[in-house]
Amino acid sequence: MNVDFIIVGQGIAGTCFAFELIKNQKSFIIIDKVEDNSSSKVALGVYNPLVLKWFTKVWKADEQISYFYKFYNEIEHFLKHNFIENEGIYKYLKTVYAQNMWLSKSPSKHKFDYMSQKILTINKEGLINTNFYGLVKKAGRIDIPLLLRLFKNHYVDKKILIEEDFNYEKLVFEHEGLYYNNIFSKNIIFCEGVKLFHNPYFKYLNLKPTKGEILAIYCKGLSLKNILHSRFLLIPLGNDYYSVGATYDWNNLDNLCTAEAKAEIKSMLDQTLKLPYKIISQRSGIRPSTFDRRAIVGRHNQYKNMYILNGLGTRGVLLSPYLSKCLVDYIYYNGVIDSDVDVKRFEKK
Ligand SMILES: Cc1cc2nc3c(=O)[nH]c(=O)nc-3n(C[C@H](O)[C@H](O)[C@H](O)COP(=O)(O)OP(=O)(O)OC[C@H]3O[C@@H](n4cnc5c(N)ncnc54)[C@H](O)[C@@H]3O)c2cc1C
Repeated sequence: MNVDFIIVGQGIAGTCFAFELIKNQKSFIIIDKVEDNSSSKVALGVYNPLVLKWFTKVWKADEQISYFYKFYNEIEHFLKHNFIENEGIYKYLKTVYAQNMWLSKSPSKHKFDYMSQKILTINKEGLINTNFYGLVKKAGRIDIPLLLRLFKNHYVDKKILIEEDFNYEKLVFEHEGLYYNNIFSKNIIFCEGVKLFHNPYFKYLNLKPTKGEILAIYCKGLSLKNILHSRFLLIPLGNDYYSVGATYDWNNLDNLCTAEAKAEIKSMLDQTLKLPYKIISQRSGIRPSTFDRRAIVGRHNQYKNMYILNGLGTRGVLLSPYLSKCLVDYIYYNGVIDSDVDVKRFEKK
Protein backbone atom coordinates (compact mmCIF):
# COMPACT_ATOMS: atom_id res chain seq x y z
CA MET A 1 0.00 0.00 0.00
CA ASN A 2 1.24 3.46 -0.97
CA VAL A 3 -0.14 6.64 0.68
CA ASP A 4 0.65 10.31 1.21
CA PHE A 5 0.16 10.14 4.99
CA ILE A 6 0.02 7.79 7.93
CA ILE A 7 -2.10 9.44 10.65
CA VAL A 8 -1.60 8.11 14.17
CA GLY A 9 -4.71 8.79 16.29
CA GLN A 10 -8.35 9.27 15.35
CA GLY A 11 -9.41 11.79 17.96
CA ILE A 12 -10.70 15.18 16.84
CA ALA A 13 -7.17 16.22 15.76
CA GLY A 14 -6.51 13.19 13.53
CA THR A 15 -10.06 13.29 12.16
CA CYS A 16 -9.91 16.96 11.16
CA PHE A 17 -6.45 16.57 9.66
CA ALA A 18 -7.68 13.54 7.66
CA PHE A 19 -10.63 15.54 6.31
CA GLU A 20 -8.30 18.35 5.28
CA LEU A 21 -6.28 15.73 3.35
CA ILE A 22 -9.47 14.41 1.72
CA LYS A 23 -10.30 17.96 0.62
CA ASN A 24 -6.85 18.21 -0.96
CA GLN A 25 -7.06 14.83 -2.71
CA LYS A 26 -4.30 13.28 -0.61
CA SER A 27 -4.38 9.63 0.44
CA PHE A 28 -3.85 8.34 3.98
CA ILE A 29 -4.19 5.47 6.38
CA ILE A 30 -5.17 5.94 10.02
CA ILE A 31 -3.81 3.90 12.90
CA ASP A 32 -5.86 4.27 16.05
CA LYS A 33 -6.11 2.24 19.21
CA VAL A 34 -9.75 2.35 20.25
CA GLU A 35 -10.11 4.00 23.62
CA ASP A 36 -13.48 4.88 25.12
CA ASN A 37 -12.02 7.46 27.49
CA SER A 38 -9.98 9.41 24.96
CA SER A 39 -10.38 13.14 25.44
CA SER A 40 -12.38 13.55 22.21
CA LYS A 41 -14.86 10.83 23.19
CA VAL A 42 -15.56 12.45 26.57
CA ALA A 43 -15.51 16.08 25.34
CA LEU A 44 -18.65 18.18 25.70
CA GLY A 45 -18.08 19.33 22.12
CA VAL A 46 -18.55 23.04 22.78
CA TYR A 47 -16.93 25.64 20.52
CA ASN A 48 -16.77 29.18 21.72
CA PRO A 49 -14.71 32.15 20.53
CA LEU A 50 -14.60 33.87 23.95
CA VAL A 51 -12.84 33.31 27.26
CA LEU A 52 -15.95 33.23 29.42
CA LYS A 53 -14.20 34.64 32.48
CA TRP A 54 -12.91 37.83 30.85
CA PHE A 55 -15.08 38.09 27.70
CA THR A 56 -11.95 38.41 25.60
CA LYS A 57 -11.45 36.60 22.32
CA VAL A 58 -9.47 33.35 22.21
CA TRP A 59 -6.30 33.10 20.09
CA LYS A 60 -7.13 33.82 16.41
CA ALA A 61 -10.85 33.70 17.17
CA ASP A 62 -11.97 35.39 13.94
CA GLU A 63 -9.84 33.14 11.73
CA GLN A 64 -10.84 30.02 13.63
CA ILE A 65 -14.56 30.80 13.58
CA SER A 66 -14.56 31.70 9.87
CA TYR A 67 -12.89 28.44 8.96
CA PHE A 68 -14.86 26.40 11.49
CA TYR A 69 -18.25 26.99 9.82
CA LYS A 70 -16.89 26.40 6.34
CA PHE A 71 -15.16 23.20 7.44
CA TYR A 72 -18.16 21.73 9.28
CA ASN A 73 -20.51 22.61 6.45
CA GLU A 74 -18.22 20.59 4.19
CA ILE A 75 -18.17 17.71 6.66
CA GLU A 76 -21.97 17.82 6.93
CA HIS A 77 -22.19 17.59 3.18
CA PHE A 78 -19.60 14.79 3.05
CA LEU A 79 -21.14 12.63 5.79
CA LYS A 80 -24.73 13.69 5.06
CA HIS A 81 -25.39 14.52 8.68
CA ASN A 82 -25.77 17.74 10.69
CA PHE A 83 -23.29 18.25 13.49
CA ILE A 84 -23.62 21.89 14.54
CA GLU A 85 -26.10 22.05 17.41
CA ASN A 86 -27.32 24.31 20.21
CA GLU A 87 -26.09 27.54 18.68
CA GLY A 88 -25.47 30.34 21.21
CA ILE A 89 -24.25 30.15 24.81
CA TYR A 90 -26.11 32.03 27.55
CA LYS A 91 -23.52 33.23 30.05
CA TYR A 92 -24.94 33.93 33.50
CA LEU A 93 -23.65 37.32 34.72
CA LYS A 94 -24.01 36.87 38.45
CA THR A 95 -22.52 40.14 39.70
CA VAL A 96 -23.01 43.79 38.75
CA TYR A 97 -19.29 43.78 37.98
CA ALA A 98 -19.74 40.96 35.44
CA GLN A 99 -22.77 42.70 33.90
CA ASN A 100 -20.87 45.97 33.51
CA MET A 101 -17.85 44.17 32.09
CA TRP A 102 -20.11 42.45 29.54
CA LEU A 103 -21.74 45.72 28.50
CA SER A 104 -18.41 47.50 28.18
CA LYS A 105 -16.98 44.75 25.96
CA SER A 106 -19.99 43.93 23.83
CA PRO A 107 -19.85 46.86 21.35
CA SER A 108 -18.42 44.98 18.40
CA LYS A 109 -14.88 45.87 17.39
CA HIS A 110 -14.42 42.41 15.92
CA LYS A 111 -14.91 40.79 12.59
CA PHE A 112 -17.94 39.03 14.03
CA ASP A 113 -20.51 40.14 16.50
CA TYR A 114 -19.81 37.66 19.33
CA MET A 115 -21.63 39.27 22.28
CA SER A 116 -25.23 40.38 22.69
CA GLN A 117 -25.46 44.16 23.11
CA LYS A 118 -28.04 43.73 25.86
CA ILE A 119 -28.35 41.72 29.03
CA LEU A 120 -31.05 39.15 28.46
CA THR A 121 -33.70 37.20 30.31
CA ILE A 122 -34.43 33.51 29.79
CA ASN A 123 -38.06 32.52 30.17
CA LYS A 124 -37.61 29.13 31.79
CA GLU A 125 -39.51 28.33 34.96
CA GLY A 126 -37.14 25.50 35.80
CA LEU A 127 -34.22 27.90 36.32
CA ILE A 128 -33.48 29.67 39.60
CA ASN A 129 -31.89 32.63 37.80
CA THR A 130 -33.77 33.83 34.75
CA ASN A 131 -32.25 37.33 34.55
CA PHE A 132 -28.78 38.65 33.71
CA TYR A 133 -27.54 36.58 30.80
CA GLY A 134 -25.18 37.62 28.02
CA LEU A 135 -25.53 35.70 24.78
CA VAL A 136 -22.31 34.48 23.13
CA LYS A 137 -23.01 34.18 19.43
CA LYS A 138 -20.96 32.02 17.01
CA ALA A 139 -20.76 29.42 19.78
CA GLY A 140 -22.44 26.05 20.17
CA ARG A 141 -21.81 22.33 20.18
CA ILE A 142 -20.63 19.61 17.87
CA ASP A 143 -21.57 16.00 18.59
CA ILE A 144 -17.97 14.80 18.59
CA PRO A 145 -18.52 11.10 19.44
CA LEU A 146 -21.02 10.85 16.56
CA LEU A 147 -18.66 12.66 14.20
CA LEU A 148 -15.81 10.30 15.11
CA ARG A 149 -18.06 7.26 14.70
CA LEU A 150 -19.32 8.29 11.27
CA PHE A 151 -15.81 9.05 10.04
CA LYS A 152 -14.64 5.75 11.47
CA ASN A 153 -17.37 3.92 9.50
CA HIS A 154 -16.19 5.74 6.39
CA TYR A 155 -12.56 4.70 6.98
CA VAL A 156 -13.62 1.10 7.65
CA ASP A 157 -15.60 1.07 4.37
CA LYS A 158 -12.58 2.41 2.50
CA LYS A 159 -10.26 -0.01 4.35
CA ILE A 160 -8.01 2.83 5.53
CA LEU A 161 -8.26 2.29 9.31
CA ILE A 162 -6.00 -0.01 11.31
CA GLU A 163 -7.21 -0.48 14.86
CA GLU A 164 -4.06 -1.15 16.82
CA ASP A 165 -1.43 0.49 18.99
CA PHE A 166 1.12 2.13 16.71
CA ASN A 167 4.46 0.40 17.14
CA TYR A 168 7.13 3.10 16.92
CA GLU A 169 9.90 0.51 16.49
CA LYS A 170 8.44 -0.62 13.17
CA LEU A 171 8.94 2.72 11.50
CA VAL A 172 11.67 2.54 8.85
CA PHE A 173 12.81 5.71 7.09
CA GLU A 174 13.63 5.72 3.40
CA HIS A 175 14.91 8.58 1.32
CA GLU A 176 11.50 9.60 -0.05
CA GLY A 177 9.28 8.48 2.81
CA LEU A 178 8.87 5.74 5.37
CA TYR A 179 7.67 2.18 5.81
CA TYR A 180 5.33 0.89 8.50
CA ASN A 181 4.81 -2.86 8.01
CA ASN A 182 3.72 -3.19 4.37
CA ILE A 183 2.64 0.47 4.07
CA PHE A 184 4.82 2.96 2.27
CA SER A 185 3.95 6.56 3.10
CA LYS A 186 5.49 9.84 2.07
CA ASN A 187 4.69 11.38 5.47
CA ILE A 188 3.52 10.60 8.99
CA ILE A 189 1.61 12.76 11.49
CA PHE A 190 1.13 12.06 15.17
CA CYS A 191 -2.22 13.14 16.67
CA GLU A 192 -1.97 11.12 19.87
CA GLY A 193 -3.45 13.45 22.48
CA VAL A 194 -2.10 12.74 25.97
CA LYS A 195 -0.48 9.53 24.79
CA LEU A 196 2.21 11.71 23.23
CA PHE A 197 4.54 10.78 26.09
CA HIS A 198 4.93 7.26 24.57
CA ASN A 199 6.29 8.76 21.35
CA PRO A 200 10.11 8.47 21.18
CA TYR A 201 10.35 11.01 18.33
CA PHE A 202 8.83 13.87 20.32
CA LYS A 203 10.40 13.15 23.70
CA TYR A 204 11.45 16.79 23.94
CA LEU A 205 7.80 17.91 24.21
CA ASN A 206 6.03 18.14 27.54
CA LEU A 207 2.27 18.31 27.93
CA LYS A 208 0.55 19.57 31.05
CA PRO A 209 -2.42 17.16 31.03
CA THR A 210 -5.63 18.26 32.72
CA LYS A 211 -8.26 15.86 33.92
CA GLY A 212 -11.88 16.80 33.32
CA GLU A 213 -15.09 15.19 34.57
CA ILE A 214 -18.65 15.59 33.37
CA LEU A 215 -22.10 14.43 34.41
CA ALA A 216 -25.02 13.38 32.26
CA ILE A 217 -28.34 14.30 33.89
CA TYR A 218 -32.07 14.05 33.23
CA CYS A 219 -34.25 16.99 34.27
CA LYS A 220 -37.88 16.47 33.37
CA GLY A 221 -39.66 19.59 32.15
CA LEU A 222 -36.61 21.86 31.94
CA SER A 223 -36.85 21.98 28.13
CA LEU A 224 -33.73 24.10 27.60
CA LYS A 225 -32.75 24.66 23.98
CA ASN A 226 -29.57 26.71 24.49
CA ILE A 227 -26.35 26.05 26.34
CA LEU A 228 -26.05 27.84 29.70
CA HIS A 229 -22.79 28.74 31.38
CA SER A 230 -22.63 29.43 35.06
CA ARG A 231 -19.37 28.07 36.47
CA PHE A 232 -19.98 24.95 34.33
CA LEU A 233 -21.64 24.39 31.00
CA LEU A 234 -25.16 22.93 30.97
CA ILE A 235 -25.75 21.49 27.51
CA PRO A 236 -29.13 20.28 26.22
CA LEU A 237 -28.87 16.96 24.39
CA GLY A 238 -32.61 16.65 23.66
CA ASN A 239 -35.58 15.10 25.50
CA ASP A 240 -34.45 16.78 28.75
CA TYR A 241 -31.09 15.01 28.87
CA TYR A 242 -28.13 17.29 29.56
CA SER A 243 -24.33 17.15 29.80
CA VAL A 244 -22.78 19.23 32.57
CA GLY A 245 -19.16 20.14 33.22
CA ALA A 246 -16.32 20.04 33.00
CA THR A 247 -14.04 20.15 36.03
CA TYR A 248 -10.30 20.84 35.99
CA ASP A 249 -7.71 18.79 37.86
CA TRP A 250 -3.97 19.06 37.16
CA ASN A 251 -2.83 16.65 39.88
CA ASN A 252 -4.91 13.50 39.76
CA LEU A 253 -4.43 12.22 36.23
CA ASP A 254 -5.98 8.78 36.37
CA ASN A 255 -9.15 8.00 34.46
CA LEU A 256 -11.33 7.38 37.50
CA CYS A 257 -14.44 9.41 38.29
CA THR A 258 -14.29 11.17 41.65
CA ALA A 259 -16.82 12.09 44.32
CA GLU A 260 -15.21 15.56 44.51
CA ALA A 261 -15.91 16.37 40.86
CA LYS A 262 -19.46 15.07 41.18
CA ALA A 263 -20.07 17.26 44.24
CA GLU A 264 -18.58 20.31 42.49
CA ILE A 265 -20.87 19.95 39.47
CA LYS A 266 -23.86 19.11 41.66
CA SER A 267 -23.37 22.30 43.67
CA MET A 268 -23.59 24.34 40.47
CA LEU A 269 -26.71 22.43 39.40
CA ASP A 270 -28.33 23.01 42.80
CA GLN A 271 -27.75 26.75 42.39
CA THR A 272 -29.10 26.72 38.84
CA LEU A 273 -32.09 24.35 38.64
CA LYS A 274 -35.41 24.68 40.43
CA LEU A 275 -36.56 21.30 39.15
CA PRO A 276 -35.35 17.96 40.48
CA TYR A 277 -32.80 16.16 38.34
CA LYS A 278 -31.33 12.70 38.18
CA ILE A 279 -27.65 11.93 37.56
CA ILE A 280 -27.41 9.34 34.83
CA SER A 281 -23.66 8.91 34.51
CA GLN A 282 -20.26 10.42 35.21
CA ARG A 283 -17.26 10.32 32.89
CA SER A 284 -13.68 11.52 32.94
CA GLY A 285 -10.98 12.20 30.39
CA ILE A 286 -7.58 13.83 30.17
CA ARG A 287 -7.12 16.96 28.07
CA PRO A 288 -3.81 17.33 26.19
CA SER A 289 -3.04 20.80 27.58
CA THR A 290 0.32 22.57 27.39
CA PHE A 291 2.32 24.76 29.74
CA ASP A 292 1.98 27.84 27.54
CA ARG A 293 -1.68 27.07 26.68
CA ARG A 294 -0.92 26.90 22.99
CA ALA A 295 -1.31 23.97 20.62
CA ILE A 296 1.68 22.12 19.15
CA VAL A 297 1.78 22.00 15.37
CA GLY A 298 4.45 21.44 12.75
CA ARG A 299 7.33 19.44 11.39
CA HIS A 300 9.86 17.39 13.33
CA ASN A 301 13.26 19.10 13.58
CA GLN A 302 15.14 16.07 12.22
CA TYR A 303 12.65 13.96 10.21
CA LYS A 304 11.38 16.25 7.48
CA ASN A 305 8.34 14.11 6.64
CA MET A 306 7.16 13.74 10.25
CA TYR A 307 4.53 16.09 11.70
CA ILE A 308 2.56 16.67 14.87
CA LEU A 309 -0.86 18.11 15.79
CA ASN A 310 -1.38 18.07 19.55
CA GLY A 311 -1.72 20.25 22.66
CA LEU A 312 -5.33 21.19 21.87
CA GLY A 313 -6.11 21.53 25.58
CA THR A 314 -9.65 22.68 26.34
CA ARG A 315 -10.41 23.85 22.81
CA GLY A 316 -9.90 20.94 20.44
CA VAL A 317 -13.25 21.43 18.70
CA LEU A 318 -12.50 24.94 17.46
CA LEU A 319 -8.72 24.58 17.05
CA SER A 320 -8.59 21.32 15.05
CA PRO A 321 -10.13 22.54 11.76
CA TYR A 322 -8.09 25.75 11.66
CA LEU A 323 -4.78 24.15 12.64
CA SER A 324 -5.32 21.23 10.22
CA LYS A 325 -5.72 23.74 7.41
CA CYS A 326 -2.63 25.70 8.51
CA LEU A 327 -0.62 22.48 8.55
CA VAL A 328 -1.79 21.29 5.13
CA ASP A 329 -1.07 24.77 3.72
CA TYR A 330 2.39 24.60 5.27
CA ILE A 331 3.14 21.12 3.90
CA TYR A 332 1.78 21.51 0.37
CA TYR A 333 1.42 25.21 -0.39
CA ASN A 334 4.34 26.98 1.33
CA GLY A 335 2.11 28.28 4.11
CA VAL A 336 3.54 29.52 7.40
CA ILE A 337 2.79 28.10 10.85
CA ASP A 338 2.21 30.80 13.44
CA SER A 339 5.17 30.88 15.84
CA ASP A 340 2.75 30.82 18.82
CA VAL A 341 1.82 27.21 18.01
CA ASP A 342 4.81 25.99 16.00
CA VAL A 343 6.51 22.92 17.49
CA LYS A 344 9.79 24.74 16.78
CA ARG A 345 9.32 26.82 19.93
CA PHE A 346 10.35 23.74 21.97
CA GLU A 347 13.54 23.04 20.04
CA LYS A 348 16.83 23.88 21.70
CA LYS A 349 18.32 27.00 20.16
C1 LIG B 1 -14.31 16.28 30.22
C2 LIG B 1 -13.80 16.99 29.01
C3 LIG B 1 -14.60 17.93 28.38
C4 LIG B 1 -14.12 18.60 27.25
N1 LIG B 1 -14.95 19.48 26.64
C5 LIG B 1 -14.50 20.14 25.53
C6 LIG B 1 -15.35 21.04 24.85
O1 LIG B 1 -16.51 21.22 25.19
N2 LIG B 1 -14.84 21.70 23.75
C7 LIG B 1 -13.55 21.50 23.32
O2 LIG B 1 -13.15 22.13 22.32
N3 LIG B 1 -12.73 20.64 23.96
C8 LIG B 1 -13.16 19.95 25.04
N4 LIG B 1 -12.34 19.09 25.69
C9 LIG B 1 -10.96 18.98 25.20
C10 LIG B 1 -10.91 18.10 23.97
O3 LIG B 1 -11.49 16.89 24.31
C11 LIG B 1 -9.48 17.92 23.47
O4 LIG B 1 -8.92 19.17 23.14
C12 LIG B 1 -9.42 17.05 22.24
O5 LIG B 1 -10.29 15.97 22.35
C13 LIG B 1 -8.03 16.50 21.98
O6 LIG B 1 -8.12 15.70 20.82
P1 LIG B 1 -6.89 14.87 20.27
O7 LIG B 1 -7.34 14.27 19.00
O8 LIG B 1 -5.66 15.69 20.28
O9 LIG B 1 -6.64 13.72 21.37
P2 LIG B 1 -7.51 12.44 21.76
O10 LIG B 1 -8.94 12.74 21.80
O11 LIG B 1 -6.89 11.92 23.02
O12 LIG B 1 -7.26 11.41 20.58
C14 LIG B 1 -6.05 10.74 20.42
C15 LIG B 1 -6.32 9.42 19.73
O13 LIG B 1 -5.07 8.83 19.38
C16 LIG B 1 -5.05 7.48 19.79
N5 LIG B 1 -3.64 7.11 20.01
C17 LIG B 1 -2.73 7.76 20.76
N6 LIG B 1 -1.53 7.13 20.70
C18 LIG B 1 -1.71 6.08 19.88
C19 LIG B 1 -0.86 5.04 19.42
N7 LIG B 1 0.42 4.96 19.79
N8 LIG B 1 -1.37 4.08 18.61
C20 LIG B 1 -2.67 4.15 18.20
N9 LIG B 1 -3.52 5.11 18.61
C21 LIG B 1 -3.05 6.06 19.44
C22 LIG B 1 -5.89 7.47 21.06
O14 LIG B 1 -6.36 6.17 21.37
C23 LIG B 1 -7.03 8.41 20.65
O15 LIG B 1 -8.03 7.73 19.93
C24 LIG B 1 -12.80 18.37 26.78
C25 LIG B 1 -12.01 17.42 27.40
C26 LIG B 1 -12.50 16.73 28.51
C27 LIG B 1 -11.63 15.68 29.15
